[in-house]
Amino acid sequence: MSKLHATATVSKILNFSCVDGPGNRLVIFLQGCNYQCKNCHNPHTIGLCDHCGDCAIHCPTGSLQLINGKIAWQANTCTHCDKCLAVCPQQSNPKTQTVSVTDMLSHIRQHSPFLTGITVSGGEATLQAGFIHALFNAIKQDPALCHLTCLIDSNGSLSETGWEKLLPVMDGAMIDLKAWQQETHRWITGRSNHRVMQSIALLKQHDKLEELRLLHIPGITDYEREIDELASYLRELPRRTTIRLNAFQHHGVTGEALEWDTCSNLQIEHFAHQLETKGVRVTYRMGI
Ligand code: SF4
Ligand code: SF4
Repeated sequence: MSKLHATATVSKILNFSCVDGPGNRLVIFLQGCNYQCKNCHNPHTIGLCDHCGDCAIHCPTGSLQLINGKIAWQANTCTHCDKCLAVCPQQSNPKTQTVSVTDMLSHIRQHSPFLTGITVSGGEATLQAGFIHALFNAIKQDPALCHLTCLIDSNGSLSETGWEKLLPVMDGAMIDLKAWQQETHRWITGRSNHRVMQSIALLKQHDKLEELRLLHIPGITDYEREIDELASYLRELPRRTTIRLNAFQHHGVTGEALEWDTCSNLQIEHFAHQLETKGVRVTYRMGI
């Protein structure tokens, strides 16, 4: 049965990106997340709008109005000052859009000659797994789009049943492992990492683990304290899996994480060197 009518709540679409998977990718950021990471770089993608209307009075250009109990955003007058994001009590965004698979496909078609693939990110992308399945399935069946690789960027919290449904239509997933020990992971994200470990094992088994990411926050994440165990775990990942070390920065962060030290070039290089001397191939970057 065709699911072209399926819709998603979309926070943002980036037409071209070279940091969200291999090659040049169109990235769809879906609204809503089931984690509450203290260090979230996009906290306004966490919550769902309840149309309280609080943001409307703070908009300097009058681009937000409460109409029939719903917040309405006018794109043509918005200056993207993001004052509305700062005042939202739900960690949400009045600029989200409800987009159908049909509309997303026509948007992708406009850019497809320049693209390597599509990445669905978030928020937590897999909270809207039905839409992702319908979109990827339609891309794979379209002769003009089937060359595009379809990746999911996820916190790894999806159940095994959820992944089993997506595996036939996706080319891979990029997973964030936010801490090694349960207590650290729970303290940073509000959730344990059991599901994340299960997701990594499942994706590995199906050769669909595109990338594993470790965000290094000096003095906060526990990777260096657990370096031997971490290295032996990473050595077992398939060759196709990129292991990416990201250096914590303050960009987009709010709250207590703004008090945390950022990760310098020297610190991320040191972390990479520790893993490399233990036989792990890594790639790393600053400025995340
Ligand atoms: S970003 Fe938000 S507050 Fe700023 S102009 Fe646009 S709608 Fe108004
Ligand atoms: S975006 Fe936030 S502040 Fe604006 S109407 Fe929705 S919940 Fe209220």
